[in-house]
Amino acid sequence: MTNSSLPPPHIVILGGGLAGLAAAEAVVSRADPAAPPQVTVLEAAERFGGIIETVYDDGWLVERAADTFLTARSEGLDLVHRLGLDDALVSVSPSARRALVWSPAARGGGGRLVPVPAGFRLLAPGRPATLLKTPLLSWPGRVRAALEQFVPPPQRPSTDESLEAFAVRRLGREAFDRLVQPLVSGIWTADPARLSMAAACPDFLTLERDHGSLTRGEKHRLRKAGLNADASGARYGQFVSFQRGMQTLIDGLVARLRAHGVELVCDRVETLRREAAGWNVGVAGGAPLSASAVVIALPAPVASRLLDPTAPELATELAGIEYSGAAIVSLGFSRADVEHPLNAAGMIVPRIAGRRLLAASFSSTKFPGRAPADAVLIRGFLGGALDPTAAERSDHEISQQVLADLRDILGIRGEPRYGRIDRWHTAMPQYNLGHVERVKRIRAAESRLRGLALAGAAYDGVGIPQVIAAGQEAVKRAVGSQQTGA
Ligand SMILES: Cc1cc2nc3c(=O)[nH]c(=O)nc-3n(C[C@H](O)[C@H](O)[C@H](O)COP(=O)(O)OP(=O)(O)OC[C@H]3O[C@@H](n4cnc5c(N)ncnc54)[C@H](O)[C@@H]3O)c2cc1C
Repeated sequence: MTNSSLPPPHIVILGGGLAGLAAAEAVVSRADPAAPPQVTVLEAAERFGGIIETVYDDGWLVERAADTFLTARSEGLDLVHRLGLDDALVSVSPSARRALVWSPAARGGGGRLVPVPAGFRLLAPGRPATLLKTPLLSWPGRVRAALEQFVPPPQRPSTDESLEAFAVRRLGREAFDRLVQPLVSGIWTADPARLSMAAACPDFLTLERDHGSLTRGEKHRLRKAGLNADASGARYGQFVSFQRGMQTLIDGLVARLRAHGVELVCDRVETLRREAAGWNVGVAGGAPLSASAVVIALPAPVASRLLDPTAPELATELAGIEYSGAAIVSLGFSRADVEHPLNAAGMIVPRIAGRRLLAASFSSTKFPGRAPADAVLIRGFLGGALDPTAAERSDHEISQQVLADLRDILGIRGEPRYGRIDRWHTAMPQYNLGHVERVKRIRAAESRLRGLALAGAAYDGVGIPQVIAAGQEAVKRAVGSQQTGA
């Protein structure tokens, strides 16, 4: 890879969130130990990890954002293994392996929490009989959803279809409003009328295409994986975290990078210029760096600003990726003050209920060690694309809003013993209609910039394994194009 008379290549990674750290880890994992490259990670904040951070507060363990990851894709667990953290992992507790949906009463106030029908995965009924029994839907709504397997696929599939259009077409309006919409907003905080199926849920398009219906496709998938649709808890068992929270992953990454001599620098990147043999990276607090290859692991709007002088068309595409904000209100209560048994991972609230609360995670049921022994920790989510100003309101307004909804739905009597609010203004990239085509144009433009690649949640997946994969793939593209002179 290197000629001993030449200095080693200098790979500079912009952004020390998960994508940036995973990119740096990929460099050190693949490096020739006889000739390791120089690696620098530049991060604007005073800590590494970006969105992922755990707060430890007098017996409470609170995630500021991500609290778990799915192991169905291997990149997360493979990384955990390389970091020597296998023993620190925890699975979702068996008593929490299901989700509840708020079912508003047909008229007036009130309603109740009911389980997501067994075997139902986001859009796919693995067991239609459970849809026929669910109290979430009216009789006509149940029959319509259970008949999904007889709805023919479109003769000419549209180039891109919104999640709402797809779900209504397959399952009917009522199942969308009362089940799919809250499940989707709990994951993407997106507007389902604009969320692209091709970008956000390509697997379900494949089920429809290959099996003619989601029901048949899901049954086939479960059979192949040796899973029983009745055991809907099996999917929740694939979600893991760490005993001491997601911060363990970040601390493990930082320790491994430091051990391999990676320079982890807290300094804001302000400019990016092409130079003869690579890139010149200007930072706020020090001398500019010369890089043979650059991985940009920054939110898309920041990447857009940096690339504007060099590649204005690419910058325009990046600026076109919208973000939404959210607020998370974490509240701790004495167990005795909460009437509901909290026997689930959490609950989701449909938009038709007219509440601001999108979802709540029952953190202390989900994973051990999140609250003192006689207490429970609940995280309420507000905001998203359909309530864009939620995260802008005052602490008082936000916490009172969440508290009122939680009191009403979960029967909470006493005052919270613990509270904190985390606001994320532009943390959630929106995979709106046209996103797949936009990312293709971004990749094409990126390939014309030798020694540069983009990584992060904005492009090919927001989940933790996808973001790790994005960092790893970006290294291959940046270093590969720099070597081949693409
Ligand atoms: C509220 C919330 C909850 C989530 N929950 C889950 C979950 O439970 N499970 C799951 O799998 N995923 C979850 N996600 C998604 C997942 O956490 C993210 O997709 C992932 O962490 C994003 O990593 P990233 O590196 O792309 O971005 P970031 O974490 O945003 O990293 C980008 C970094 O760039 C830095 N930066 C910005 N500007 C500059 C600059 N000029 N110079 C240098 N550095 C700069 C930032 O400070 C930041 O550290 C959640 C996301 C959110 C917002």
